[in-house]
Amino acid sequence: MKIRRRDFLKGIASGGVLAVIGKPDLALATERQYQPGALGILYDATLCVGCQSCMVACKKANNMPMERTRAPGVWDDPVDLSSSTLNIIKKYQHGEGQVKDSVDGYSFVKRHCMHCVEPSCVSACPVSALTKDKENGIVGYNKERCIGCRYCQIACPFNIPKFQWDDPTPEIVKCQLCSHLVEKGGISACCEACPTGASLFGPVESLINEAKRRQQMVPGKYYDFPISDLSGRTSPEFKSRMAAKYVPEIYGEYEVGGTQVLHMAGVPFNKLGFPDLPHESYASISDGIQYAIYKGMVYPIVVLGGLIYMVNKREGGDKEE
Ligand code: SF4
Ligand code: SF4
Ligand code: SF4
Repeated sequence: MKIRRRDFLKGIASGGVLAVIGKPDLALATERQYQPGALGILYDATLCVGCQSCMVACKKANNMPMERTRAPGVWDDPVDLSSSTLNIIKKYQHGEGQVKDSVDGYSFVKRHCMHCVEPSCVSACPVSALTKDKENGIVGYNKERCIGCRYCQIACPFNIPKFQWDDPTPEIVKCQLCSHLVEKGGISACCEACPTGASLFGPVESLINEAKRRQQMVPGKYYDFPISDLSGRTSPEFKSRMAAKYVPEIYGEYEVGGTQVLHMAGVPFNKLGFPDLPHESYASISDGIQYAIYKGMVYPIVVLGGLIYMVNKREGGDKEE
């Protein structure tokens, strides 16, 4: 896979800057596998009916203001995540878009923080305002530590963190998997509100098993689908639904080292706006180099040179593939 200029800059943001400033949370960004207690969300676009209950529940649970409509008549409005919208349901449509979950028809798609296994936002933050929880892997934010440099925005491969430009004391804003509810034994508000099970909360390993079960289903046949929660924190509930035809990929299982938010769909993910990303995380590339600095006290400029060399080498390798 070719590393683009934008990807290169993200790699630099998640590593090069830290060579100069230092990095308090180095160990946290080097985890390579799902932690045993990792929690996440499985979003299944084929179960989504576009009701946007999850968006309303998210705003309520996180005290976020409603956004004024800027494009009347357009279905997905607001059109993207913002400093007051942590979660959005968008619509993919081709032409008249008659058939759901087909590339020539339409599909819904949900966007919010992916809670990466090796989050480059954590790696890029020079003051550990963003951290990955050691128990459940949720990537959280501490506004008291934040200095507003916005390196996390540059580093994120999914373009998730937003900045409160219109606030005199601005903060970075992103989904924190409703950690304030999770730590009290609850589940993410968007999953609790979802009437169809399209947004499903639970341990990541269980979510992956559920996703693989769905990929084995025969399209057109009926199966039971769990609603809201696979963690056992709430009473299990199931609904019978006709299985759709999925693309043979669980987005997030491998991208940038894996993410705790996973996606299934009937339409290829690049059509739904998901970036085509390497399996190796930006954080792991830059951390490898940073270890060399801390170990050998090499000058930062040498590190930057090392990053450029790695990217060039990788681009060369890609061309040969
Ligand atoms: S999606 Fe972006 S903001 Fe969320 S954890 Fe990954 S790098 Fe950080
Ligand atoms: S803006 Fe805040 S969270 Fe982002 S990198 Fe800077 S200090 Fe860290
Ligand atoms: S997990 Fe919580 S903060 Fe994140 S999108 Fe769902 S409701 Fe919003």
